[in-house]
Amino acid sequence: MMSAPPVADLHLHSHHSDGVLSPAAVIELCARRGVTHAALTDHDTLQGCLEARAACAEQGLKHVAGVEVSCGWNGQTLHVIGLEFALKDAALARHLADIRARRAARIAEIGARLERKAQLPGKALAAKILARNAVPTRMHLARELVAAGEAKDIGDAFATWLKRGRPGHTPIEWPSLAETVARLRDAGARVVLAHPHRYEFSAGALRRLLGEFRAAGGEAIEVAVAGIGPSDLDRLATLARNHGFAASTGSDFHDPAVPWNPPGRFAKLPADLEPLAARLA
Ligand code: AMP
Ligand code: MN
Ligand code: MN
Ligand code: MN
Repeated sequence: MMSAPPVADLHLHSHHSDGVLSPAAVIELCARRGVTHAALTDHDTLQGCLEARAACAEQGLKHVAGVEVSCGWNGQTLHVIGLEFALKDAALARHLADIRARRAARIAEIGARLERKAQLPGKALAAKILARNAVPTRMHLARELVAAGEAKDIGDAFATWLKRGRPGHTPIEWPSLAETVARLRDAGARVVLAHPHRYEFSAGALRRLLGEFRAAGGEAIEVAVAGIGPSDLDRLATLARNHGFAASTGSDFHDPAVPWNPPGRFAKLPADLEPLAARLA
């Protein structure tokens, strides 16, 4: 009998960063939706990893330790995913704690700007988010702005209040790409560039980025991401081939109320690409 092909969702969020479900609930949803390999990849924290591991054992899924780390390259924010690494690595833990501190300062500043420039109760919103979240993100602020009736949905909250050129926009200095990849590699991680189609680089800059990422020790890029269109999928597949990257798959699931990226839903990888999942232990 042929066994079913693996379904590796290597990009998932829980309430330890800007998702809404607990790690156990995320993994339970993965199991129900036919996911066979799951990596909880919360932003800049390892807090949910042990709970995800236990839930995977209970549900019969292969667990992959994961994290999505924020970093900077050429003035833009990039997201790099580390997989299958040592959860107890002290230097990685310090690196992530430093990012969380920068995030907290940024959320307070965004709140202050929204108050000063747009007469919104930004300071109170920021204080509420900081009290409840160890990884405070702009997604939390976007949700609060929607709840307060100041935006019609998350996308509108970013477009109206948070994006560059908007009253709440506050630049943040992330650690560099090179340092980020080094911290992850030192912890034994396989390193993946998340959603390369979302960055606003020229084709040339994106090629340069991939070259530097590879030289630093990156081994894969996300290719089959939820919500990607056929032309972007094609573009990422070509980049993976040209640069010799393995191809990663993931939903970037945050919230069951968002219909388009439940766990396990993403495009099929072109057959000639090597799925990163095939390299996992
Ligand atoms: P932060 O890392 O604090 O900048 O928050 C960014 C998070 O908000 C990302 O991880 C996404 O989940 C989400 N996000 C960013 N930009 C948008 C957008 N334009 N529309 C909806 N969600 C977004
Ligand atoms: Mn997010
Ligand atoms: Mn991301
Ligand atoms: Mn993500």
